[in-house]
Amino acid sequence: MVRIKKESTKYNKLYWIRMKNNPEMYRKRKESNKRWRDKNKEQINIKAVEYRKNNLEEVRKKNREYGRLKEYEKARGYHKKWYQKNKEAVRVKSKETYDKNIMNPVWKQKELLRCRLKYKKFKEKYKESRKKYYKTQNGRMNMRKHVWDRRAREKEVVHLFTKEQWIDKLKKTKGICKSCMKNVGENNLTLDHINPLSKAKKEEIYTIDDIDAICKSCNSKKSNKLIV
Ligand SMILES: [Zn+2]
Repeated sequence: MVRIKKESTKYNKLYWIRMKNNPEMYRKRKESNKRWRDKNKEQINIKAVEYRKNNLEEVRKKNREYGRLKEYEKARGYHKKWYQKNKEAVRVKSKETYDKNIMNPVWKQKELLRCRLKYKKFKEKYKESRKKYYKTQNGRMNMRKHVWDRRAREKEVVHLFTKEQWIDKLKKTKGICKSCMKNVGENNLTLDHINPLSKAKKEEIYTIDDIDAICKSCNSKKSNKLIV
């Protein structure tokens, strides 16, 4: 909300200086301001919306200017703090709005277009952050699990283990392949279905105990054997 600055008189100036130098006075003033705001919340909101409507260009310009100020970081800090506190409420509210709007075909079309444009605009940024994410252990595991789960779906079997369980399993191996006993490092171990997927029954369940961590060359040897 952009406030209109009133012309400050000499008295006003003196008053502010005095108040700022007196913590007790400052606190009292702050409290009374808050009380007033809480009491007149709705009216303030109505007025703010009205003001924004009537002075759209000016508000936008001021907001842009504000964005460039050093105080921007400070404001962002406040916003972050507020968001952390109200995270759940925000999530619920935005999901509600989304669910309501997605039924509206016009809105849906607009939203799709907006997403596409946003993606185009920040394509490089997105790509970069994705690359970075996939370099972390979490990202790598998510990507792999995605592939495994897709393969499992194709073969109509069920994977009943979490990414965390798999990471745990990897850590226990200390990077050693269970098949050839070579130390290849945790990152080079791949998922092996003890009962191979090609022999699995429909809707067979694979828990964390039904899979092993073996190296790439052992894994490919195993699949070759199955084909022969
Ligand atoms: Zn091996």
